Amino acid sequence: MGDTAEHIPLFPLSTPDTSAEKQHSQDRSQQIEVEQTRLLYAQAPSAVVISLFNATILVFFLRHEVPSSALIAWWTGMLGAYLIRSLLVWRYRQATLQGTPSQHWRTRFLISAVLSGCAWGSCALLLFPTVSLPHQLLLAFVVGGMAIGAIASMAAVRAAYIGFILPLTLPLVWRFFLQGGDDAIAMGSLSFIFVGGLLVMASQFHTTITESIALRFEKQDLLQSRKALQLSHDVLEDRVRERTMALQQEVRERARSETHARAMLQAIPDTVFRVNRDGVLLDFTPRDQFSALPAPESVVGKSVTEIVPPDVARAVNGAVAEALRTGTAQICEYPLSLQGTLHNYEIRLVVSGPDEVVGIVRDITQRKEVERLKDEFISTVSHELRTPLTSLVGFTELMLNRQFSPEKQQQYVSLIHDESVCLAHLVNDLLDLQRMQLGNLTYHLAALDLEPLLKTCGALFERDASSLRFAIASPLLPVYADDARIRQVVTNLLSNAIKFSPADGIVTVGAEVQHDEVVTWIADQGPGIPADALPKLFDKFFRVDNKETRHIGGAGLGLALVKEIVTAHGGRVWVESTLGQGSTFFFTLPLVSAVSDAVADSLAEVR
Ligand code: ADP
Repeated sequence: MGDTAEHIPLFPLSTPDTSAEKQHSQDRSQQIEVEQTRLLYAQAPSAVVISLFNATILVFFLRHEVPSSALIAWWTGMLGAYLIRSLLVWRYRQATLQGTPSQHWRTRFLISAVLSGCAWGSCALLLFPTVSLPHQLLLAFVVGGMAIGAIASMAAVRAAYIGFILPLTLPLVWRFFLQGGDDAIAMGSLSFIFVGGLLVMASQFHTTITESIALRFEKQDLLQSRKALQLSHDVLEDRVRERTMALQQEVRERARSETHARAMLQAIPDTVFRVNRDGVLLDFTPRDQFSALPAPESVVGKSVTEIVPPDVARAVNGAVAEALRTGTAQICEYPLSLQGTLHNYEIRLVVSGPDEVVGIVRDITQRKEVERLKDEFISTVSHELRTPLTSLVGFTELMLNRQFSPEKQQQYVSLIHDESVCLAHLVNDLLDLQRMQLGNLTYHLAALDLEPLLKTCGALFERDASSLRFAIASPLLPVYADDARIRQVVTNLLSNAIKFSPADGIVTVGAEVQHDEVVTWIADQGPGIPADALPKLFDKFFRVDNKETRHIGGAGLGLALVKEIVTAHGGRVWVESTLGQGSTFFFTLPLVSAVSDAVADSLAEVR
């Protein structure tokens, strides 16, 4: 049907003719047609009643002008036509209850409208009162009224009202013209103009109805779009909320991991930096001596060559390039003088991005020193072991290959014995040191009388000492100590004193009670110890590098053992020395009376 072809959406929501748009337009036309058909059938029952009423009135007023048979035949025909339409309306309603009625119902209505129009139009042929002008006017009036009524009930569909009005009115117009005479011609002309006017009016009414239907659908569409928009808005809002929460969580996690990373960085005792391929510093977190350097901000952005000496910069840049080329961690070591002190540094470089490397600078001065001491220790110990071993091998070979007098043999065996004792001491010291490092040195603490202990130890060295004296203040109260270990302490100190004493030097062993401890000292008249060596004197493997004493043997373990043993007893050890005049070593041990049971237990337990 062409009734809806001109329909244009009032609020076009999207532009040009896409296929979806065309489909939408077709659907809309169908919707409008369905609604128009519904309107036709909705108006039909009242139209049926009014039509039959009008037909009956017309028949009544024409009863004297028209033969009864014509009247009855026409009225019966009308009744039949309107019964058919009523039946059609009833069946349409049934069909509506079962779903959307098909297009056929529109066509059926149009046929019924044309039939009704024809039935009404036949009145101009069957019931025309040729004589009475008032009755002719009555007929024209009823037919005109029916046509006006048709506009009200069928304006929704153009074909319906045209299909009804034309067969309804044209026979009457034709009848007027056929009758002839001025009055009839005038009536016919007026009727014709009236029909034309009616059709124009009906057309405008039809347009208004179609537009209002379209508007209703547009409104429905808008409401649906609004709902859909609201729904999308809600969904979008939910997504935004979820995304925001996820982002907040991510930000929190990033902040947490950043805090962790920062804390870890802070916990690293080394200087950390980041450098790019061109050797420009991107980050710098200084530690230790580097903290005294200019602020990191003034270093960041500068090239490594501007900050460190050229040879160090060359080494760093080379390692950076190598790390970026191979993707593996690089390590380089270099010495650097900072604030007047020479330090050894190690840089570990790890690739941290396509064009950058993270470096950790570690002060390895101590490690280097330990390595040096170890090397020195190995060479010292080897030397210490080799000297007595050479004597042992030499004398035993001599005795195996040659015959000596018993006196000579006695002398050589005694030398072999001395060297063996010396070796045994060295090995024992080494074992003790190892146990010390492992915390396995065992002490048997008990009340100990120091005077006899000092005297027996002194007697052991009497043979070597040119002059050994004792200055022991009486009474010397007993101390709380391990006999064997204190014997080791005194022996070490005495052996050093004698070792470093001149041929006619006097070694003095003294002891006295001071407060709640006994202070013991061993003084010699040896070369003394330089002041700068005093702080390190009790360190393991430390030996004074001195021309005069270099020839004197030793592994640098004795004083370390002394310090460990005395400290384990809760005592102190120190030295007073004047270069060229001699040294005095002191150590203290707690009196038995001063050691509470609890302390004694804990000392005994710990050891
Ligand atoms: P060593 O076996 O080398 O004597 P020690 O630990 O007993 O090992 O002594 C460490 C260093 O302390 C010695 O090498 C020596 O240089 C110095 N020293 C120790 N006692 C004396 C002393 N009485 N007089 C001078 N120097 C001493």
